[in-house]
Amino acid sequence: MKVELENLFSIDESSQDQVIKVYNRYGIFIDAPEIRKRNLKASFNPIFTLNEDVTYEHVADLYKSLEHELGIVSIGERFYFDFSDSEYEQASLFTLNSTGNSPEMFLDDRGTLFSISTYCHHCGLMEKEQLSPLVIDTSKIEDRHLVHVSGFWVASERLVTLMKQESIEGYDLLEVIHQGPERGRQPAYQIIPKQILPTCSSERVKLYFATEQPPCRCGLSGVINGPDIYNRNAITNLKGDVFFSAEWSHDGRYLYRKTLFSRKFRELIIKNNISREVKGEKDRNFGPKDWLFDPVLFK
Ligand SMILES: [Zn+2]
Repeated sequence: MKVELENLFSIDESSQDQVIKVYNRYGIFIDAPEIRKRNLKASFNPIFTLNEDVTYEHVADLYKSLEHELGIVSIGERFYFDFSDSEYEQASLFTLNSTGNSPEMFLDDRGTLFSISTYCHHCGLMEKEQLSPLVIDTSKIEDRHLVHVSGFWVASERLVTLMKQESIEGYDLLEVIHQGPERGRQPAYQIIPKQILPTCSSERVKLYFATEQPPCRCGLSGVINGPDIYNRNAITNLKGDVFFSAEWSHDGRYLYRKTLFSRKFRELIIKNNISREVKGEKDRNFGPKDWLFDPVLFK
């Protein structure tokens, strides 16, 4: 697994060489980026790999040089986790990160009952306990098979039928409540994993953005978690295909647990042409209805 960092900022086209020289000085060798002109400025989006030689501390120093020497501020940052083919082949579990490179995979909650409490008084993250079935406008699912509703996965009838046919195990279904127009209404089911995985290995990569507020002391806000990584012994005897992670994730406001699926589930999705096989966010196959599964790593 490689950690890549993309920087996004604008420069005057004439200063491109100087910018590249500053990167080179920090041991980061980038090509002249594709320049996309907007007005008089050109956007500059180098992507490079972080490793033992180029650490995030180097990058934080690089940002200071870019600011002091060239007046470049407000640098956008984006991390990518790039897995090798063998990591895809060997993984027995996958984290489902997306069911489409499109905002339509997200549906709004339309009045589910939750009991809400504050989890962290420093950053204000809140915990919520679900007290009723999810309430959504099921007509918005259209021909999608799995949509995301405030931290939960909701499956279409067809996907549920396939999961039963293929003996996918380890989950409960809770039918959602429809709220919206009658036209296009359809049955849909929240997938609730029955098991929680053991805690991740302490070797999991944890990152933060040098250009933003430092991480909160709760260890959640401002922290970018790397891929899920487990001690092999802790999960060899697991049975079933659907799991919650032990660690909290959050959407900036509320906590939720990520759902992980077995290799068998991922293969079922690809075999039935629900999604093409996608390997990473930058894969050309990652279209509006393709699913992004990241392999779970082992130590
Ligand atoms: Zn916090």
